[in-house]
Amino acid sequence: MAKKKVALITGASRGIGAATARLFAKHGYIVCVNYLSNNCAANNVVDEIILNGGSAIAIQADVNKESEVQALFDTISSQLGSIDVLINNAGILRAQSRFVDLNEERITQILTGNILSYFLCSKYAIQTMSSDFGGNGGSIVNVSSAASRTGAPNEYIDYAASKGAIDTLTIGLAKEVAAQGIRVNCVRPGLIYTDMHADGGEPNRVDRLKSKLPMQRGGEPEEVAEAIYWLASNKASYATGNFIDLAGGL
Ligand code: NAP
Repeated sequence: MAKKKVALITGASRGIGAATARLFAKHGYIVCVNYLSNNCAANNVVDEIILNGGSAIAIQADVNKESEVQALFDTISSQLGSIDVLINNAGILRAQSRFVDLNEERITQILTGNILSYFLCSKYAIQTMSSDFGGNGGSIVNVSSAASRTGAPNEYIDYAASKGAIDTLTIGLAKEVAAQGIRVNCVRPGLIYTDMHADGGEPNRVDRLKSKLPMQRGGEPEEVAEAIYWLASNKASYATGNFIDLAGGL
């Protein structure tokens, strides 16, 4: 019998990551639900997957710390086998702010908090997947944001810039590892109903802004998950370095 594929989804206890974990499990993947501190939410995602006949485990790790990323990959390797798919999704948002009011602490927090984990997790995933390291290939999908295209003026230029870095990472890494059997793609969600907007100081931000979108509604995490799944799957076997914008026409 063919080995079940293994997917690591960072920040999968809530929001887009949780919806993506459920979808991959539905398609037969063994899913690693990574989270930072909300073990209750992560365990709920795992319990729901198992209740529906899927396979998943929750692993706590701050994916912005290399030692924890290394331990995360070691645990996956010993408990689930080598990974086939990495979804870089964990991210943070802070209060809306004019550019001139940003300070060093906040800028550093956002830039490191939204960029480091994508680099670190990709590094360890490549060491597992790459044909140069004896691997069978694989797929990486980065969750960026429509903010990388809009720049998010008067709200979070620091967050938008961190997502711009993810777009550039996608372009460069896709080219660097294409001949090693690894595809790297990216989704750029717009206004999606998750907890993240509360962290930005405005829980109802999607409802306030949705009428400005061509489709005049916010998006659901499940709609983003479908695009992530497609890019990661063999249905997208000739796609690398590509972007799917899920922003209601923005
Ligand atoms: P969310 O609901 O706030 O969930 C964030 C997730 O990331 C949680 O599972 C959290 O774990 C985890 N996390 C944060 N920092 C982490 C770290 N250092 N290590 C491990 N896990 C960490 O977020 P979301 O809205 O689903 O966003 C997911 C991704 O989509 C982010 O990259 C975000 O920038 C992007 N995005 C979101 C929107 C939107 O409108 N929501 C739009 C565009 C892009 P805990 O539960 O343990 O805290």
